[in-house]
Amino acid sequence: FLPHLVASMEDVEETYIMVKPDGVQRGLVGEIISRFEKKGFKLTGLKLFQCPKELAEEHYKDLKAKPFFPKLTEYITSGPVVCMAWEGVGVVASARKLIGATNPLQAEPGTIRGDLAVQTGRNVIHGSDSPENGVREIALWFKEGELCPWTQAQAPWLRE
Ligand code: UDP
Ligand code: MG
Repeated sequence: FLPHLVASMEDVEETYIMVKPDGVQRGLVGEIISRFEKKGFKLTGLKLFQCPKELAEEHYKDLKAKPFFPKLTEYITSGPVVCMAWEGVGVVASARKLIGATNPLQAEPGTIRGDLAVQTGRNVIHGSDSPENGVREIALWFKEGELCPWTQAQAPWLRE
């Protein structure tokens, strides 16, 4: 019985990360995956996917009343996206930090948007904004059986 391991399991979260169509078209998929891999998070789901309109609308339903909503769903469905599920301690907030501010011109250098994008409407990546939305969005974008739980060999080198 290893109580410290049990306790740390409680802090494990999951987040839904998506390379948007501009990121795929601009050849940024590998660069983006690499940043999450290097940080030490665990990839549990990955697919290239053409998003249907209804799914884009459901994913962004909280923004339905915004003036940019039609352009947003058009953008997300304009080409294939890369859907990912990432797991780790504090992964939701940490991924948001790695991603940077919504407006890439305000995103800090060193962040994905700060380094790789210039416009809010072409900001290359999505990341869940809360652990609850992480769970909701992974269930929305992945079917049963598409996710793959596994044991990361480097786990003891990431956490004491
Ligand atoms: N968006 C936009 N115009 C805006 C605000 C947002 O086109 O004025 C788009 C942008 O692609 C953003 C997405 O809508 O990433 C979702 O907005 P949110 O506020 O949730 O930003 P995020 O969580 O992606 O940083
Ligand atoms: Mg958001």
